[in-house]
Amino acid sequence: MSSSDFDPKILKQVAGTMAEALTEKSQQQAREKKIVEDLTLGVDKAQTVKCDSCGHHIFEKGIVLKRFSAIISPTGDEVVVPVDVFSCIKCGNVNDEFLPSYAISDVKKVDENGLPSY
Ligand SMILES: [Zn+2]
Repeated sequence: MSSSDFDPKILKQVAGTMAEALTEKSQQQAREKKIVEDLTLGVDKAQTVKCDSCGHHIFEKGIVLKRFSAIISPTGDEVVVPVDVFSCIKCGNVNDEFLPSYAISDVKKVDENGLPSY
């Protein structure tokens, strides 16, 4: 490439586009940081989630795997999608808000009192 081929306008355009992308990224990071800060500051005002079954307030994470057959998958291929769920560490219950019972109706188990057991 000879110096006569060089168009400084192109360089300016590229630099402008890069600057725009960087600005957008830093704005996005600032927004995310603000959200985390606001959540941290408000944690004492937020309601603590309790187990619907025993009232305990500590949960552990589990994963439910949902298999989408090729027929119903949006991609046309079979896919397995992990869904995070939280179960009470005391009694093992999974609150309905974390895993609606209709979402696992194919494996839903019920105890002697008719309550869901996981
Ligand atoms: Zn519980």
